[in-house]
Parts: sequence; C-alpha cells; structure tokens
Amino acid sequence: MDTVLLSDNEADLIKAAEFIKNGNIVGIPTETVYGLGADASNEEAVRKVFEAKGRPADNPLIVHLADFSQASEYTSFIPELAFKLADKFCPGPLTIVLPKNDRIPMITSGGLDTVGIRVPSHKVMHRIIELSGRPIAAPSANTSGYPSPTSAAHVMRDMNGKISAVVDGGSSEFGVESTVIAIESENTARILRPGCITKEMLEQVCSEVIIDHAILHELEAGQKAASPGMKYKHYSPKADIIMVESDLEKFISYVGEHNGEGVYSLIFNSDSEVFPYRNMTYGKDSSEQAHLLFQRLRELDDAGAKKVYVRAPETSGVGLAVYNRLIRAAGFEVIRI
Ligand code: AMP
Ligand code: MG
Repeated sequence: MDTVLLSDNEADLIKAAEFIKNGNIVGIPTETVYGLGADASNEEAVRKVFEAKGRPADNPLIVHLADFSQASEYTSFIPELAFKLADKFCPGPLTIVLPKNDRIPMITSGGLDTVGIRVPSHKVMHRIIELSGRPIAAPSANTSGYPSPTSAAHVMRDMNGKISAVVDGGSSEFGVESTVIAIESENTARILRPGCITKEMLEQVCSEVIIDHAILHELEAGQKAASPGMKYKHYSPKADIIMVESDLEKFISYVGEHNGEGVYSLIFNSDSEVFPYRNMTYGKDSSEQAHLLFQRLRELDDAGAKKVYVRAPETSGVGLAVYNRLIRAAGFEVIRI
C-alpha cells in the first residue's frame, strides 16, 4: 500500500475523512501525540489498527469525539463528575473511562465493557472527526512498544506502507499521551495514565484524586492492570534505557564509571555546561521534557546509542507523566544513588 502524505488544508482533511469513512487508517496529529485514526464503530477498520501497530488485542483504543455531548451515544452511563471534568478539561488531553454501549465493538475496547472517551483540541483532529461523522479510535501511531510519534515523519517511519495516509500537522504540542482517568466514586477520580492534565489540575474539580499504583510501580505477576497498557513494556527505543535517581554530581561520577562505546546520557538543559560525557538534553522543565522525550528517544537510536543513562525527572505535575513513560522505557530499571 502507498501511504500518502497529506497536508492540513481543508481539501486534504476531506480526503483523510473519506479514508476513515471507508474503513481505512490515517495518521493524524493531535495535541498529545500522533494517532492512528480509524472508525471506532467499524470492527474491520479497528482490526487493521491493531495489525498495523502490532498491538496486543487486550490493549483498548481510546475513542475520540468532536464534543463531549456525543459521549452519551457510545456509553451506557455518565456520572455527574465526568460532566464536571469534561466542562473544565474538554476539549483537551483528558480521557475519561466510562461504561460503553454496544455501538462500540468489543475489539475497540480490548474486550472490556468500558471505553475511554476523549475530545481532542487539535484543530486538525477535530476537523477530521467532524468531516467523517464517526467516533475515531486513535491509539498512538507508533509500532507497539516503540516511543510514540510526535511528528508526521515519525509516523511515516513506523507506518509507511501499512496505512492509507498521514496528515502533517507539525510537531505535537504536549508530546505525551492523554491523562486517562476512571471515575471511582461521586467525587473521586483515579489516574490510570498520567499526562498533561495533572493530579493538581484534576483536584480543582474532584475532592480526591488517586494515583493508580501501576503508574510508578511494576505490576507483580498475576496482578490485574486497571489500565491494560500498563502491563506492557512500552515507549522503548532499541537502546537500553536506565534511569538514574541522584543529584548531578553523583550522576556524573556514575556515568564516568560506566562510560564506553555507545553510552549516552539524557540530561536536563541546566546540566549541559558541566556534564563531560556524550549526551542529549531533554528540556528545562517538565513540560519541555514531555514535549521532547519521545523525539529524543528516537534520536538516540538514530545516533547509534546502545545504553542511555537518564536523569530521572520530577514526579510532581507534568513530571509524573514523563517519569511514567521513562520508567516503562527503562523496563523499570532504576538506579538510586
Ligand atoms: P494509546 O492508545 O496508545 O494512547 O493507549 C491507550 C491506553 O489507554 C491503553 O493502553 C490503556 O492503558 C488506556 N485505556 C484505554 N481505554 C481504557 C479503558 N476502557 N479502561 C482502562 N484503560 C484504558
Ligand atoms: Mg501508545
């Protein structure tokens, strides 16, 4: 199959929407990362998404809508707290898990009786949803297990020949996937996957916000994941990633002791003046780290890195999302000095 590169003008967005209406797959920019868009209500189209990504069948797809008011068409019940959260954070990078109805096929929800609903703010994604008139399933447009794509070029690299088209909408604003939450009780939400809608932001609406244990910890054998994506090794480049939790001085001496061919470090911008070994920087604060992380992981592979020591980010605010992706990229290999 030839994968067409489309631009973000109206004529091309109409083409993208036609592909989706006809059961085909299109790489689409969103404010989080690029997604592999398909008609979420079309089993055959969804099957193609799982196949193109090599994604395990029990890992559910998020369903993207043009407006939260359409959520009632695909769910059986929407708690009051979900409406309050949607009022504040939709459109934007928030996914709310709700009980699904039978307009969402089981293949889309990975066999679960719930569905993650999101209303993206990116104008290209929004327009394609409107033009197609379909609920759009859009998992990150990477090969399963590899870092998520934050540019059309990344999508082309992973999906060329496997999907109908990619729409180029420039680089993704946030750079990490949406915050996924479940409604736990009347005023309580549980974060299943951290993102740029932070715990602190959710607390403006919820009286309690629980951070699911699996966000920072490896699941024990036999333990059930509240969010199926949590159980897989994820976001990993070919290089071996090792997170190091320490101050800069100890980090420098640790890397010094373990330096060698193909060894790189991923450090904060502020470290770079004094850091003496081969490195890439990934931002000055958590938001910039989120924006750059996946791009840097891909660049490290391009540079031929074999082993990468990463300065561990903060775990507050958007930092929790960065930490969560890195700890999975590292296969939970963390060195604390
Ligand atoms: P991606 O499609 O790559 O952004 O990954 C979506 C992730 O959202 C999945 O791996 C799950 O961890 C989570 N997710 C999606 N739908 C649900 C759901 N119904 N229940 C729990 N987690 C979900
Ligand atoms: Mg993904």
